[in-house]
Amino acid sequence: MSKAFDYIADIFLPNRCPCCGSFIRWDGLVCEECRKGLALCENSAEIPPEGCSAAVSVFVYDGCAKQGIYSLKDGCGKGFAVCGAELLAERLNGSGAELVTCVPMARRKRAERGYNQAELIASELAKRLGLECDPRILTRRPTSLEQHDLSAADRNEFAKTLYGVSKKHRDIAGMKLILVDDVHTTGATLAACAQKLLSLGASEVLAATLCRAVKKEKK
Ligand SMILES: [Zn+2]
Repeated sequence: MSKAFDYIADIFLPNRCPCCGSFIRWDGLVCEECRKGLALCENSAEIPPEGCSAAVSVFVYDGCAKQGIYSLKDGCGKGFAVCGAELLAERLNGSGAELVTCVPMARRKRAERGYNQAELIASELAKRLGLECDPRILTRRPTSLEQHDLSAADRNEFAKTLYGVSKKHRDIAGMKLILVDDVHTTGATLAACAQKLLSLGASEVLAATLCRAVKKEKK
């Protein structure tokens, strides 16, 4: 049903590569050139964010991947989320996680944008791992302040004040969770959300992101 829809939609709105904008097959995710150009994060982060037992990412946050994230935020990068979720699932297969959740977006912002990109990645990942995705465990309060305007130390403090727990969240006591976000930069957001999940009794939190900002990835 949705495949047939994608095929027909492609006639009116041709499918484009989320990283470079070139036309691709109706069911393509990322063009061949960009797929080759995407640098992979081979290892988990050496020091995972506080509260996370490990932090797994698939792409280095640079070049093609940066463009893919911009497209994702613009609402036309689903192919990038799916392609990254496939690779994330390969890495997280056998992790023993029981539930997938994601970094929340402030309610109003989500309504304006129509979706939360972290939730999109989380649901694609959960599908591939055969797990349930519950994006409604945590909440985020609205703010006009942008995290990237802050120093690393200020980011940590600021992030701690941003996230809360949904009033009607499910019981996650004793559960091992995968926490999804689009990009892992300083890890302040992942740490703040992981602490909240641990405070609800989660036994372990594994961070999973499409991209990680790295100074220099050894080849
Ligand atoms: Zn491309």
